Amino acid sequence: MGAEPRLLHAVFFPFQAHGHMIPALDIARLFASRRVRTTIISTPLNAPSFQKSIKSSPELGTPITLEIFPFPAKAYGLPDGVENVEQAVSLNLFGHGSWRAAAPDCLVADMFFPWATDVAAKLNIPRLVFHGTSFFYLCASDVLRLYKPHTTPHSDNEPFSLPTLPHEVKLTRMQLPPDYRENGESDSTRLLTRVKESEEKTYGVIVNSFYELESAYADYYRKVLGRRAWHIGPVSLCNRSTEEKARRGKEAAINEHECLKWLDSKEPNSVVYLCFGSTVKFTTAQLREIALSLEASGQQFIWVVRGCSDDGAKEQQWLPQGFERKMEGKGLVVRGWAPQMLILDHEAIGAFVTHCGWNSTLEGVSAGVPMVTWPVFAEQFFNEKLVTEILNIGIPVGAKQWSETASGSVLVKQEAIEMALRQIMAGEAAEEMRSRAKKLKEMAWRSVEVGGSSYSDLSALIEELSSYHLHKSK
Ligand code: UDP
Repeated sequence: MGAEPRLLHAVFFPFQAHGHMIPALDIARLFASRRVRTTIISTPLNAPSFQKSIKSSPELGTPITLEIFPFPAKAYGLPDGVENVEQAVSLNLFGHGSWRAAAPDCLVADMFFPWATDVAAKLNIPRLVFHGTSFFYLCASDVLRLYKPHTTPHSDNEPFSLPTLPHEVKLTRMQLPPDYRENGESDSTRLLTRVKESEEKTYGVIVNSFYELESAYADYYRKVLGRRAWHIGPVSLCNRSTEEKARRGKEAAINEHECLKWLDSKEPNSVVYLCFGSTVKFTTAQLREIALSLEASGQQFIWVVRGCSDDGAKEQQWLPQGFERKMEGKGLVVRGWAPQMLILDHEAIGAFVTHCGWNSTLEGVSAGVPMVTWPVFAEQFFNEKLVTEILNIGIPVGAKQWSETASGSVLVKQEAIEMALRQIMAGEAAEEMRSRAKKLKEMAWRSVEVGGSSYSDLSALIEELSSYHLHKSK
Protein backbone atom coordinates (compact mmCIF):
# COMPACT_ATOMS: atom_id res chain seq x y z
CA MET A 1 0.00 0.00 0.00
CA GLY A 2 1.33 3.48 -0.93
CA ALA A 3 1.65 6.29 1.57
CA GLU A 4 -1.29 8.71 1.95
CA PRO A 5 -0.76 11.66 -0.37
CA ARG A 6 0.37 14.77 1.49
CA LEU A 7 -2.53 17.19 1.82
CA LEU A 8 -2.30 20.82 0.86
CA HIS A 9 -2.21 22.93 4.05
CA ALA A 10 -3.89 26.36 4.08
CA VAL A 11 -3.67 28.71 7.05
CA PHE A 12 -6.49 31.22 7.54
CA PHE A 13 -5.96 34.43 9.37
CA PRO A 14 -9.33 36.23 9.74
CA PHE A 15 -9.71 39.76 11.08
CA GLN A 16 -11.25 39.95 14.57
CA ALA A 17 -14.80 40.98 13.62
CA HIS A 18 -17.75 38.68 13.02
CA GLY A 19 -18.31 40.09 9.54
CA HIS A 20 -14.84 38.74 8.67
CA MET A 21 -14.63 35.67 10.93
CA ILE A 22 -17.94 34.13 9.80
CA PRO A 23 -17.15 34.02 6.05
CA ALA A 24 -13.52 33.04 6.76
CA LEU A 25 -14.77 29.99 8.65
CA ASP A 26 -17.13 29.16 5.79
CA ILE A 27 -14.21 29.39 3.35
CA ALA A 28 -12.08 27.15 5.57
CA ARG A 29 -14.98 24.65 5.64
CA LEU A 30 -15.19 24.77 1.85
CA PHE A 31 -11.46 24.09 1.57
CA ALA A 32 -11.77 21.26 4.12
CA SER A 33 -14.62 19.71 2.15
CA ARG A 34 -12.18 19.52 -0.80
CA ARG A 35 -9.56 17.69 1.25
CA VAL A 36 -7.37 20.67 2.07
CA ARG A 37 -5.84 20.65 5.55
CA THR A 38 -6.89 23.92 7.19
CA THR A 39 -5.75 25.85 10.24
CA ILE A 40 -7.55 28.94 11.53
CA ILE A 41 -5.65 31.43 13.66
CA SER A 42 -7.58 33.26 16.33
CA THR A 43 -7.37 34.75 19.82
CA PRO A 44 -8.84 33.36 23.09
CA LEU A 45 -11.98 35.49 23.20
CA ASN A 46 -12.79 35.03 19.51
CA ALA A 47 -12.13 31.29 19.53
CA PRO A 48 -15.62 30.16 20.71
CA SER A 49 -17.19 31.51 17.51
CA PHE A 50 -15.08 29.00 15.58
CA GLN A 51 -15.02 26.15 18.08
CA LYS A 52 -18.69 25.27 18.05
CA SER A 53 -18.79 25.05 14.26
CA ILE A 54 -15.55 23.13 13.92
CA LYS A 55 -16.40 20.57 16.61
CA SER A 56 -19.70 19.68 15.08
CA SER A 57 -18.59 19.37 11.48
CA PRO A 58 -17.43 15.76 11.24
CA GLU A 59 -18.94 15.62 7.77
CA LEU A 60 -16.06 17.72 6.46
CA GLY A 61 -13.50 15.84 4.39
CA THR A 62 -10.61 16.98 6.58
CA PRO A 63 -10.64 18.33 10.13
CA ILE A 64 -10.05 22.04 10.74
CA THR A 65 -7.49 22.97 13.38
CA LEU A 66 -7.83 26.08 15.50
CA GLU A 67 -4.58 27.72 16.67
CA ILE A 68 -5.17 30.18 19.49
CA PHE A 69 -2.64 32.92 20.07
CA PRO A 70 -2.85 35.27 23.06
CA PHE A 71 -3.79 38.80 22.06
CA PRO A 72 -1.56 41.32 23.82
CA ALA A 73 -4.25 43.99 24.20
CA LYS A 74 -2.14 46.07 26.62
CA ALA A 75 0.82 46.18 24.25
CA TYR A 76 -1.48 47.74 21.66
CA GLY A 77 -2.85 50.28 24.12
CA LEU A 78 -6.20 48.49 24.44
CA PRO A 79 -7.92 47.46 27.66
CA ASP A 80 -7.64 43.81 28.68
CA GLY A 81 -10.40 41.69 27.20
CA VAL A 82 -10.73 43.72 23.99
CA GLU A 83 -10.05 41.43 21.07
CA ASN A 84 -12.84 42.24 18.62
CA VAL A 85 -13.92 45.28 16.61
CA GLU A 86 -17.38 44.98 18.15
CA GLN A 87 -15.81 45.95 21.48
CA ALA A 88 -13.58 48.72 20.16
CA VAL A 89 -13.06 50.09 16.69
CA SER A 90 -9.30 50.47 16.93
CA LEU A 91 -6.59 50.38 14.34
CA ASN A 92 -4.46 48.59 16.93
CA LEU A 93 -6.43 45.43 16.33
CA PHE A 94 -4.82 45.29 12.92
CA GLY A 95 -1.55 44.30 14.57
CA HIS A 96 1.36 42.57 12.94
CA GLY A 97 2.68 39.06 13.13
CA SER A 98 4.93 36.27 12.06
CA TRP A 99 4.68 32.50 11.71
CA ARG A 100 6.98 30.21 13.65
CA ALA A 101 5.53 26.73 13.13
CA ALA A 102 6.29 24.56 10.08
CA ALA A 103 5.39 26.55 6.96
CA PRO A 104 1.98 25.78 5.48
CA ASP A 105 1.40 25.79 1.70
CA CYS A 106 -0.53 29.04 1.59
CA LEU A 107 -1.75 31.86 3.79
CA VAL A 108 -5.27 33.24 3.40
CA ALA A 109 -5.11 36.48 5.35
CA ASP A 110 -7.63 39.24 5.79
CA MET A 111 -7.18 42.49 3.86
CA PHE A 112 -6.60 44.30 7.17
CA PHE A 113 -3.31 42.43 7.58
CA PRO A 114 -1.15 43.85 4.77
CA TRP A 115 1.97 42.65 6.61
CA ALA A 116 0.87 39.05 5.91
CA THR A 117 2.19 39.42 2.35
CA ASP A 118 5.75 39.82 3.70
CA VAL A 119 5.28 36.94 6.16
CA ALA A 120 4.23 34.69 3.26
CA ALA A 121 7.12 35.90 1.11
CA LYS A 122 9.60 34.96 3.86
CA LEU A 123 8.06 31.49 3.99
CA ASN A 124 8.07 31.31 0.20
CA ILE A 125 4.36 30.51 0.06
CA PRO A 126 1.50 32.32 -1.74
CA ARG A 127 -0.56 34.83 0.23
CA LEU A 128 -4.18 35.16 -0.75
CA VAL A 129 -6.23 38.15 0.39
CA PHE A 130 -9.78 37.98 1.64
CA HIS A 131 -11.61 41.31 1.68
CA GLY A 132 -15.06 40.05 2.53
CA THR A 133 -16.72 42.37 0.05
CA SER A 134 -18.21 42.54 -3.45
CA PHE A 135 -16.40 42.71 -6.79
CA PHE A 136 -18.43 45.87 -7.26
CA TYR A 137 -16.80 47.58 -4.27
CA LEU A 138 -13.34 46.23 -5.10
CA CYS A 139 -13.66 47.92 -8.51
CA ALA A 140 -15.33 51.10 -7.28
CA SER A 141 -12.77 51.66 -4.51
CA ASP A 142 -9.91 51.34 -7.00
CA VAL A 143 -11.63 53.78 -9.36
CA LEU A 144 -12.06 56.20 -6.46
CA ARG A 145 -8.37 55.90 -5.59
CA LEU A 146 -7.16 56.18 -9.18
CA TYR A 147 -9.39 58.99 -10.53
CA LYS A 148 -10.35 60.83 -7.31
CA PRO A 149 -13.77 61.88 -8.68
CA HIS A 150 -14.85 62.91 -5.18
CA THR A 151 -12.54 65.94 -5.30
CA THR A 152 -14.57 67.73 -8.02
CA PRO A 153 -17.93 68.59 -6.36
CA HIS A 154 -18.18 71.90 -4.53
CA SER A 155 -20.27 70.50 -1.71
CA ASP A 156 -20.41 67.23 0.23
CA ASN A 157 -23.98 66.63 -0.95
CA GLU A 158 -23.31 67.11 -4.66
CA PRO A 159 -23.20 63.76 -6.47
CA PHE A 160 -20.16 62.70 -8.47
CA SER A 161 -19.88 59.76 -10.90
CA LEU A 162 -17.39 56.94 -10.65
CA PRO A 163 -15.71 56.98 -14.08
CA THR A 164 -15.02 53.94 -16.30
CA LEU A 165 -17.26 51.48 -14.40
CA PRO A 166 -19.70 49.33 -16.43
CA HIS A 167 -22.71 51.26 -14.99
CA GLU A 168 -23.30 54.91 -14.16
CA VAL A 169 -22.82 55.04 -10.38
CA LYS A 170 -23.17 58.25 -8.40
CA LEU A 171 -22.22 58.92 -4.80
CA THR A 172 -21.73 61.95 -2.59
CA ARG A 173 -18.83 62.70 -0.26
CA MET A 174 -21.32 62.34 2.61
CA GLN A 175 -21.50 58.63 1.76
CA LEU A 176 -17.74 58.21 2.15
CA PRO A 177 -15.61 58.16 5.31
CA PRO A 178 -14.88 61.65 6.73
CA ASP A 179 -11.27 61.56 5.46
CA TYR A 180 -12.63 61.99 1.94
CA ARG A 181 -14.54 65.10 3.01
CA GLU A 182 -11.58 66.62 4.76
CA ASN A 183 -9.28 65.72 1.88
CA GLY A 184 -6.58 64.87 4.33
CA GLU A 185 -4.63 61.78 5.30
CA SER A 186 -5.42 59.84 8.43
CA ASP A 187 -4.38 56.54 9.98
CA SER A 188 -7.28 54.80 8.27
CA THR A 189 -6.53 56.19 4.78
CA ARG A 190 -2.87 55.29 5.25
CA LEU A 191 -3.87 51.77 6.27
CA LEU A 192 -6.14 51.46 3.21
CA THR A 193 -3.28 52.55 0.94
CA ARG A 194 -1.09 49.85 2.49
CA VAL A 195 -3.93 47.35 1.99
CA LYS A 196 -4.15 48.19 -1.72
CA GLU A 197 -0.37 48.14 -2.18
CA SER A 198 -0.05 44.78 -0.50
CA GLU A 199 -3.02 43.45 -2.49
CA GLU A 200 -1.17 44.25 -5.73
CA LYS A 201 1.82 42.19 -4.55
CA THR A 202 -0.16 39.15 -3.42
CA TYR A 203 -0.79 35.90 -5.23
CA GLY A 204 -4.47 36.74 -5.63
CA VAL A 205 -7.80 37.55 -4.09
CA ILE A 206 -10.56 35.27 -2.83
CA VAL A 207 -13.96 36.87 -3.39
CA ASN A 208 -17.15 35.86 -1.61
CA SER A 209 -19.45 36.36 -4.58
CA PHE A 210 -20.66 34.49 -7.65
CA TYR A 211 -19.99 35.36 -11.25
CA GLU A 212 -23.62 35.62 -12.37
CA LEU A 213 -24.37 38.22 -9.68
CA GLU A 214 -21.87 40.84 -10.77
CA SER A 215 -20.21 39.48 -13.91
CA ALA A 216 -19.42 42.95 -15.33
CA TYR A 217 -17.47 43.77 -12.16
CA ALA A 218 -15.80 40.36 -11.90
CA ASP A 219 -14.55 40.95 -15.47
CA TYR A 220 -13.57 44.57 -14.77
CA TYR A 221 -11.61 43.54 -11.69
CA ARG A 222 -9.66 40.91 -13.59
CA LYS A 223 -9.36 42.41 -17.06
CA VAL A 224 -9.26 46.16 -16.48
CA LEU A 225 -7.66 46.31 -13.05
CA GLY A 226 -5.53 43.25 -13.76
CA ARG A 227 -6.15 41.41 -10.49
CA ARG A 228 -5.98 37.65 -10.06
CA ALA A 229 -9.20 36.64 -8.32
CA TRP A 230 -11.24 33.55 -7.56
CA HIS A 231 -14.96 33.88 -6.81
CA ILE A 232 -16.11 31.05 -4.58
CA GLY A 233 -19.36 32.30 -3.01
CA PRO A 234 -21.89 32.63 -1.61
CA VAL A 235 -19.77 30.86 0.98
CA SER A 236 -22.66 30.87 3.48
CA LEU A 237 -24.34 28.20 1.35
CA CYS A 238 -21.96 25.60 2.79
CA ASN A 239 -24.28 25.73 5.84
CA ARG A 240 -27.15 23.44 4.90
CA SER A 241 -28.72 22.05 8.07
CA THR A 242 -30.74 23.97 10.67
CA GLU A 243 -27.96 23.32 13.16
CA GLU A 244 -25.23 24.63 10.87
CA LYS A 245 -27.21 27.79 10.14
CA ALA A 246 -28.14 28.35 13.77
CA ARG A 247 -24.61 28.12 15.16
CA ARG A 248 -23.02 30.70 12.82
CA GLY A 249 -21.33 33.48 14.72
CA LYS A 250 -22.35 34.21 18.31
CA GLU A 251 -24.75 32.50 20.67
CA ALA A 252 -28.24 33.51 19.54
CA ALA A 253 -30.48 35.50 21.88
CA ILE A 254 -33.52 33.54 20.70
CA ASN A 255 -34.05 29.80 20.64
CA GLU A 256 -33.86 28.70 17.02
CA HIS A 257 -36.74 26.24 17.35
CA GLU A 258 -39.05 28.83 18.87
CA CYS A 259 -38.06 31.28 16.18
CA LEU A 260 -38.81 28.73 13.45
CA LYS A 261 -42.12 27.79 15.09
CA TRP A 262 -43.13 31.44 15.09
CA LEU A 263 -42.16 31.81 11.43
CA ASP A 264 -43.96 28.56 10.53
CA SER A 265 -47.19 30.12 11.75
CA LYS A 266 -46.89 32.93 9.17
CA GLU A 267 -47.87 33.12 5.51
CA PRO A 268 -45.09 33.07 2.87
CA ASN A 269 -43.50 36.50 2.23
CA SER A 270 -45.42 38.12 5.08
CA VAL A 271 -42.69 39.05 7.61
CA VAL A 272 -40.03 41.78 7.43
CA TYR A 273 -36.64 40.94 8.95
CA LEU A 274 -34.60 43.89 10.25
CA CYS A 275 -30.96 43.40 11.24
CA PHE A 276 -27.95 45.69 10.97
CA GLY A 277 -25.02 43.33 11.28
CA SER A 278 -22.59 42.70 14.08
CA THR A 279 -21.35 46.20 14.90
CA VAL A 280 -23.99 48.86 14.16
CA LYS A 281 -25.66 50.39 17.21
CA PHE A 282 -28.25 53.11 16.64
CA THR A 283 -29.12 56.01 18.93
CA THR A 284 -32.22 55.88 21.14
CA ALA A 285 -33.83 58.44 18.81
CA GLN A 286 -33.22 56.25 15.75
CA LEU A 287 -34.39 53.05 17.45
CA ARG A 288 -37.58 54.84 18.47
CA GLU A 289 -38.24 55.91 14.87
CA ILE A 290 -37.85 52.28 13.79
CA ALA A 291 -40.24 51.03 16.50
CA LEU A 292 -42.86 53.63 15.59
CA SER A 293 -42.57 52.85 11.89
CA LEU A 294 -42.99 49.12 12.49
CA GLU A 295 -46.17 49.73 14.43
CA ALA A 296 -47.57 52.25 11.95
CA SER A 297 -46.74 50.15 8.86
CA GLY A 298 -48.85 47.26 10.13
CA GLN A 299 -46.19 44.79 8.95
CA GLN A 300 -45.22 41.63 10.78
CA PHE A 301 -41.54 41.66 11.71
CA ILE A 302 -38.48 40.25 13.41
CA TRP A 303 -36.34 43.16 14.58
CA VAL A 304 -32.82 42.52 15.84
CA VAL A 305 -31.49 45.19 18.20
CA ARG A 306 -27.84 44.97 19.31
CA GLY A 307 -28.26 47.67 21.88
CA CYS A 308 -28.12 51.40 21.83
CA SER A 309 -25.21 53.74 21.20
CA ASP A 310 -26.20 56.30 23.86
CA ASP A 311 -24.27 55.50 27.02
CA GLY A 312 -26.46 54.34 29.87
CA ALA A 313 -29.71 54.69 27.90
CA LYS A 314 -32.65 52.67 29.19
CA GLU A 315 -34.85 50.56 26.98
CA GLN A 316 -37.88 52.73 27.83
CA GLN A 317 -36.15 55.56 25.98
CA TRP A 318 -36.40 53.83 22.62
CA LEU A 319 -39.09 51.18 22.97
CA PRO A 320 -42.52 52.84 23.16
CA GLN A 321 -44.49 51.83 26.27
CA GLY A 322 -46.36 48.57 25.80
CA PHE A 323 -44.83 48.05 22.35
CA GLU A 324 -44.16 44.33 22.66
CA ARG A 325 -47.55 43.65 24.24
CA LYS A 326 -49.28 45.46 21.38
CA MET A 327 -47.16 43.64 18.82
CA GLU A 328 -47.63 40.20 20.37
CA GLY A 329 -48.03 37.61 17.63
CA LYS A 330 -47.19 40.24 15.07
CA GLY A 331 -43.60 41.09 15.78
CA LEU A 332 -40.53 39.81 17.64
CA VAL A 333 -37.77 41.96 19.10
CA VAL A 334 -34.50 40.03 19.39
CA ARG A 335 -32.07 41.68 21.79
CA GLY A 336 -28.61 40.56 20.74
CA TRP A 337 -27.66 37.96 18.16
CA ALA A 338 -30.18 36.35 15.81
CA PRO A 339 -29.71 33.18 13.75
CA GLN A 340 -29.82 35.28 10.59
CA MET A 341 -29.36 32.61 7.95
CA LEU A 342 -32.06 30.48 9.47
CA ILE A 343 -34.48 33.40 9.54
CA LEU A 344 -33.71 34.71 6.05
CA ASP A 345 -34.09 31.26 4.53
CA HIS A 346 -37.60 30.83 5.93
CA GLU A 347 -40.36 31.23 3.34
CA ALA A 348 -42.29 33.57 5.66
CA ILE A 349 -39.64 36.28 5.23
CA GLY A 350 -40.83 38.75 2.61
CA ALA A 351 -38.17 41.46 2.91
CA PHE A 352 -34.89 42.27 4.64
CA VAL A 353 -34.06 45.69 6.08
CA THR A 354 -30.25 45.62 6.01
CA HIS A 355 -27.25 47.85 6.67
CA CYS A 356 -25.74 46.38 3.49
CA GLY A 357 -22.75 44.67 5.08
CA TRP A 358 -21.56 42.39 2.31
CA ASN A 359 -22.32 39.15 4.14
CA SER A 360 -25.86 40.24 4.91
CA THR A 361 -26.38 41.51 1.37
CA LEU A 362 -25.22 38.23 -0.12
CA GLU A 363 -27.24 36.22 2.41
CA GLY A 364 -30.31 38.25 1.37
CA VAL A 365 -29.57 37.51 -2.29
CA SER A 366 -29.06 33.81 -1.53
CA ALA A 367 -32.40 33.72 0.28
CA GLY A 368 -34.15 35.45 -2.64
CA VAL A 369 -35.59 38.34 -0.61
CA PRO A 370 -35.92 41.97 -1.71
CA MET A 371 -34.24 44.50 0.58
CA VAL A 372 -34.66 47.89 2.14
CA THR A 373 -31.14 49.29 2.18
CA TRP A 374 -29.92 51.28 5.16
CA PRO A 375 -26.15 51.72 4.87
CA VAL A 376 -24.25 53.11 7.86
CA PHE A 377 -20.47 52.85 7.37
CA ALA A 378 -17.61 50.82 5.82
CA GLU A 379 -18.39 50.10 2.14
CA GLN A 380 -22.13 49.80 2.79
CA PHE A 381 -23.14 52.82 0.69
CA PHE A 382 -21.49 51.14 -2.32
CA ASN A 383 -23.29 47.85 -1.73
CA GLU A 384 -26.54 49.81 -1.55
CA LYS A 385 -25.92 51.03 -5.12
CA LEU A 386 -25.39 47.47 -6.31
CA VAL A 387 -28.62 46.28 -4.70
CA THR A 388 -30.89 49.19 -5.62
CA GLU A 389 -29.55 50.43 -8.96
CA ILE A 390 -27.74 47.55 -10.61
CA LEU A 391 -29.48 44.40 -9.38
CA ASN A 392 -32.80 46.23 -8.82
CA ILE A 393 -33.81 44.10 -5.87
CA GLY A 394 -34.13 46.78 -3.22
CA ILE A 395 -35.13 50.29 -2.30
CA PRO A 396 -33.12 52.76 -0.24
CA VAL A 397 -34.54 53.95 3.09
CA GLY A 398 -32.77 57.26 2.45
CA ALA A 399 -29.66 57.08 4.69
CA LYS A 400 -27.46 59.98 3.67
CA GLN A 401 -24.38 60.03 5.83
CA TRP A 402 -21.49 57.65 6.48
CA SER A 403 -20.80 57.35 10.20
CA GLU A 404 -18.69 54.77 11.97
CA THR A 405 -20.79 54.85 15.11
CA ALA A 406 -24.28 55.27 13.63
CA SER A 407 -24.77 57.90 16.30
CA GLY A 408 -23.27 60.49 13.96
CA SER A 409 -25.76 59.65 11.19
CA VAL A 410 -28.59 61.89 10.12
CA LEU A 411 -31.81 60.54 11.66
CA VAL A 412 -33.98 58.50 9.27
CA LYS A 413 -37.53 59.49 10.15
CA GLN A 414 -40.45 57.22 10.91
CA GLU A 415 -42.34 58.27 7.74
CA ALA A 416 -39.41 57.31 5.46
CA ILE A 417 -38.99 53.91 7.13
CA GLU A 418 -42.72 53.24 7.09
CA MET A 419 -42.97 54.10 3.39
CA ALA A 420 -40.02 51.83 2.53
CA LEU A 421 -41.60 48.97 4.51
CA ARG A 422 -44.89 49.32 2.68
CA GLN A 423 -43.23 49.64 -0.71
CA ILE A 424 -41.03 46.58 -0.30
CA MET A 425 -43.85 44.34 0.95
CA ALA A 426 -46.63 45.00 -1.56
CA GLY A 427 -47.37 46.38 -5.00
CA GLU A 428 -46.25 45.73 -8.54
CA ALA A 429 -42.72 47.08 -8.10
CA ALA A 430 -42.26 44.90 -5.01
CA GLU A 431 -43.42 41.80 -6.87
CA GLU A 432 -40.98 42.53 -9.69
CA MET A 433 -38.13 42.94 -7.23
CA ARG A 434 -39.14 39.73 -5.45
CA SER A 435 -39.17 37.82 -8.69
CA ARG A 436 -35.71 39.17 -9.67
CA ALA A 437 -34.46 38.27 -6.18
CA LYS A 438 -35.81 34.71 -6.53
CA LYS A 439 -33.97 34.30 -9.86
CA LEU A 440 -30.73 35.45 -8.25
CA LYS A 441 -31.28 32.94 -5.47
CA GLU A 442 -31.52 30.13 -8.02
CA MET A 443 -28.34 31.35 -9.72
CA ALA A 444 -26.56 31.56 -6.36
CA TRP A 445 -27.41 27.94 -5.57
CA ARG A 446 -26.42 26.75 -9.06
CA SER A 447 -23.06 28.50 -8.75
CA VAL A 448 -22.02 26.43 -5.73
CA GLU A 449 -23.26 23.08 -7.02
CA VAL A 450 -20.82 20.74 -8.79
CA GLY A 451 -19.89 22.34 -12.13
CA GLY A 452 -21.26 25.78 -11.13
CA SER A 453 -19.13 28.91 -11.54
CA SER A 454 -18.09 29.22 -7.90
CA TYR A 455 -17.57 25.50 -7.47
CA SER A 456 -15.31 25.46 -10.53
CA ASP A 457 -13.34 28.53 -9.49
CA LEU A 458 -12.63 26.95 -6.11
CA SER A 459 -11.47 23.76 -7.88
CA ALA A 460 -9.20 25.88 -10.10
CA LEU A 461 -7.74 27.69 -7.10
CA ILE A 462 -7.02 24.49 -5.17
CA GLU A 463 -5.44 22.88 -8.24
CA GLU A 464 -3.24 25.91 -8.78
CA LEU A 465 -2.15 25.97 -5.16
CA SER A 466 -1.38 22.25 -5.30
CA SER A 467 0.76 22.60 -8.40
CA TYR A 468 2.55 25.62 -6.85
CA HIS A 469 3.45 23.37 -3.96
CA LEU A 470 4.58 20.54 -6.28
CA HIS A 471 6.83 22.88 -8.29
CA LYS A 472 8.30 24.21 -5.08
CA SER A 473 9.15 20.78 -3.72
CA LYS A 474 10.94 19.67 -6.94
N1 UDP B 1 -25.24 38.03 11.90
C1 UDP B 1 -26.06 37.10 12.51
N2 UDP B 1 -26.90 37.52 13.48
C2 UDP B 1 -26.98 38.80 13.91
C3 UDP B 1 -26.15 39.76 13.28
C4 UDP B 1 -25.30 39.34 12.28
O1 UDP B 1 -26.03 35.91 12.16
O2 UDP B 1 -27.77 39.09 14.79
C5 UDP B 1 -24.29 37.58 10.86
C6 UDP B 1 -24.82 37.79 9.46
O3 UDP B 1 -25.54 36.66 9.04
C7 UDP B 1 -23.54 38.02 8.68
C8 UDP B 1 -22.60 38.66 9.68
O4 UDP B 1 -23.12 38.36 10.97
O5 UDP B 1 -23.01 36.79 8.26
C9 UDP B 1 -22.53 40.17 9.56
O6 UDP B 1 -21.73 40.50 8.47
P1 UDP B 1 -22.04 41.75 7.56
O7 UDP B 1 -20.97 41.81 6.52
O8 UDP B 1 -23.41 41.70 7.05
O9 UDP B 1 -21.99 42.99 8.52
P2 UDP B 1 -20.94 43.51 9.61
O10 UDP B 1 -21.26 42.83 10.87
O11 UDP B 1 -19.56 43.18 9.08
O12 UDP B 1 -21.21 44.97 9.66
